[in-house]
Amino acid sequence: MKKLTAEWDSPLFIQVQAQFETAAKKLCLDENLFYRLRVPDKALIVSVPFRNDDGSIRVVPGYRVQHNDVLGPYKGGVRYHPLVNLGEVAALAMLMTWKCALVNLPLGGAKGGIQIDPGLLSRGELQRMTRRYTSEIVNFIGPDVDIPAPDMGTNEQVMAWIMDTYSQLKGYAIPEIVTGKPVIIGGSLGRKEATGRGVVYCLMEAAKLKGFKLDEHARVAVQGFGNVGSAAVKKLEKIGAKVVAVSDVHSGVYNPRGLSYRALTDWVNQHRRLEGFPEAETVSNEELACLDAEILIPAATEGTITPQIAKRLKCKVLAEGANGPTTLEADRIIEERGDIFVIPDVLANAGGVVVSYFEWVQDLQNYFWNEKEINKKLFEIMSTAFQAVHAFAVEHKVGMRLAALMTGIRKVSQAMLTRGFYP
Ligand code: NAD
Repeated sequence: MKKLTAEWDSPLFIQVQAQFETAAKKLCLDENLFYRLRVPDKALIVSVPFRNDDGSIRVVPGYRVQHNDVLGPYKGGVRYHPLVNLGEVAALAMLMTWKCALVNLPLGGAKGGIQIDPGLLSRGELQRMTRRYTSEIVNFIGPDVDIPAPDMGTNEQVMAWIMDTYSQLKGYAIPEIVTGKPVIIGGSLGRKEATGRGVVYCLMEAAKLKGFKLDEHARVAVQGFGNVGSAAVKKLEKIGAKVVAVSDVHSGVYNPRGLSYRALTDWVNQHRRLEGFPEAETVSNEELACLDAEILIPAATEGTITPQIAKRLKCKVLAEGANGPTTLEADRIIEERGDIFVIPDVLANAGGVVVSYFEWVQDLQNYFWNEKEINKKLFEIMSTAFQAVHAFAVEHKVGMRLAALMTGIRKVSQAMLTRGFYP
């Protein structure tokens, strides 16, 4: 097999690439398609200068990578994190392609990011950086071309600034340029909670399949209390499951009697981190992952489930809210153990892009749906996808991860063969 060039090198790209190769081999994928799909269609690197509050100028690298658009416009989040690089963004773009295909959306895969810790910026600095990044990529994105959304380190406000900058540059309001923006400017009801909610919908399907109940006996540990993790905690509490531990990048909190969503969010809003949360024991992120709990939801970042942790996991179900949380070696260990049911990232966290798709559709038709309608449609898509992946896994005697990837990759490759090759 031809080796890839160095610019894509990053642990996550190597991981995503290896997963693709395994799935492609199992599918007996056409060799021409294989070489086309293992790298992105296009990648843009920009230098983003912006003014600090003290008047000095800082320049940070920014990226937008478009992996494949055979099924429709590119779609994917924007990540602000100090470790963002081209390889990571490319890997996340590729995962988006499989994810959109898996849940039958007419969208392709993209991702973007800036190499920065947004927690160290003032609101003004964050806004100036976001606006300049948008103007640097303005000709690369578009409502019919590539539609950004939130990811780690970005939120509704960042999307609002992207939408405003893009609209100012074009001369009129274009809400459909981003999803995950505030409802007041054309965002969708239910988008903020969609990813975490989708993870829980998958868990509800897993519970039906495996014959357990999501009640007070279902103890859940959630790594990462950001957009995805906190929405999952909220929904789990609502349906009666017991969340016993949550964490952020600094540390985790654990209470075997259960944690309250409201108390956790009030604490984080006040203190910015979970540390010091009363009536709970402090645990490290590693300890949290290996707690005595039936369900583990990694909802932080990639690579947190390492081989060492995989050997010590006590959970029965691993629902991947984050993208790429389980390393290749850890995945092999979990598969060999055979006692953990994995709901892989491309399936478990697809709820975000599903409601992003709803938001885009609502913006395009200028007609907005109510939240009940949105959640109902989200549930239908997530449960159908879950059941399809499980049926595929049983039929082809493969694990849930491989089944999910093969389902997505097969659809993309069929579409590519049908459209043909230009010129
Ligand atoms: P976020 O920035 O809102 O929250 C991330 C949380 O994880 C924070 O609590 C942060 O402190 C914590 N964290 C970061 N690094 C960590 C580490 N090494 N160990 C433990 N905790 C850590 O991000 P988010 O939007 O919730 O995204 C989380 C994950 O979910 C990412 O992998 C992202 O790609 C994926 N995802 C997000 C969406 C979405 O709609 N936001 C959709 C699909 C997938």
